[in-house]
Amino acid sequence: MTPLRRELLDMLESQQKPLGAYNIAERLSARLKRRIAPAAAYRGLDFLVEMGLVARLECRNAFILSAFPDCLHDCIFLVCKTCDRVEEIVDHDVATLLEDDAKNAGFITERRVIEILGQCKSCLTAENDPPSAMNHRQ
Ligand SMILES: [Zn+2]
Repeated sequence: MTPLRRELLDMLESQQKPLGAYNIAERLSARLKRRIAPAAAYRGLDFLVEMGLVARLECRNAFILSAFPDCLHDCIFLVCKTCDRVEEIVDHDVATLLEDDAKNAGFITERRVIEILGQCKSCLTAENDPPSAMNHRQ
C-alpha cells in the first residue's frame, strides 16, 4: 500500500462521519504538509473502495471507513440526517433477496448500495429528553 493510501485510511479511521473527496484532499494536504490534489485523493479512495476497506456513500457523495473490511458483501448504511453519523449493518437475507429479484428481472448486478436515511438512536434520545436532562447531552 502506498503512503498516500495509508494516510487516507488513517484519516478516515479517525472520522465518525462520511467525508467528501475535496474535504479529504484538504485534510490530507494539511496532514502531509504538501498539496494533495482532489484527483489524487479520488484515485486513492477508489482503490480503497475496490479493496473493500472504504465504503462510498452515494447519498452523500462521501467516503467512510468500512466497518466490515474482511468480507465483500453488501452493506446497509443507516445514515442519520441530524448528526450525519453512519452505521453500517449486514443482512445477508436482504442481500440474497435483492440478488434473486435482480436475477428474476434478467438483470446482472454490479454493485448494490443500500442506504437508509433517518435519525439515529442518540439523536432521537436527545430530542425526547426533557429540558431537565439537558446536562446529559454531549
Ligand atoms: Zn444522529
